[in-house]
Amino acid sequence: MKTALITGANKGIGYETARHLATEGFQVFVGARNANAGRKAADAIAKNGAKATFLQLDVSDPESVTAAPGEFSKFADHLDVLVNNAGILLKGDSALLTIRDDLIRKTLETNTLGPLRVTRAFAALLAKSSAPRVINVSSGGGQLTDGADGWAPAYCISKTALNGVTSQLAVALPKFAVNSVCPGWVRTDMGGPGAARSVEKGADTIVWLATEAPQKLTGNFLRDRHPIPW
Ligand code: NAP
Repeated sequence: MKTALITGANKGIGYETARHLATEGFQVFVGARNANAGRKAADAIAKNGAKATFLQLDVSDPESVTAAPGEFSKFADHLDVLVNNAGILLKGDSALLTIRDDLIRKTLETNTLGPLRVTRAFAALLAKSSAPRVINVSSGGGQLTDGADGWAPAYCISKTALNGVTSQLAVALPKFAVNSVCPGWVRTDMGGPGAARSVEKGADTIVWLATEAPQKLTGNFLRDRHPIPW
């Protein structure tokens, strides 16, 4: 059975990705920092007979990340797909010249170091898959090509750096497919109710990379199933 671990899967794009992959026959691991929310999400996904297991995972906490593969291994012996979805956009992330260092540090800790840390922790379990895939949920806000517009500078810097992590991981893990995805502007707690896209649309490229995309597609930044400029 194919396995997928999605971080921050208790709500939003992460939950929709987990729910969709479960309907495609994956055994999904619902990564969440909050145990109640994570268990509730896994139970909801498992309701229709799908296989969904809650996995305690705070991507900003090295101890939590280090413990996760051991817990995972009680349920499965390999990991096919890792979706590094957990992310934060902190209140007060408004003007680069005045935001405090600790807001930037906290954002980088979750959005940039988190995915690197989780990938490192699960690399050995991913290497046991015949076609390992790592999908980093990034943002168009991290694109350098069109230039920044001043919106949420710490968040955008963290996603630019996450794209750097993707590019480096694709080299460090040549047998893996490692890509970044921009889900578009999506109606979630982070995106707000006025966002243009549904969670289904936001998760589409992530699900595609987890399932149908060619394994040789690696080291790219994608939106709507197509590479976009970094
Ligand atoms: P969301 O609804 O706010 O969900 C974020 C998820 O990440 C939640 O499950 C949250 O858990 C989890 N999370 C945050 N910090 C965590 C940590 N340290 N450890 C584990 N989980 C953590 O946001 P979303 O819109 O679904 O965002 C998902 C991803 O898409 C993020 O990486 C975001 O940057 C990216 N993205 C979103 C949009 C958009 O328009 N929505 C656009 C571009 C990119 P809690 O419930 O415990 O807080």
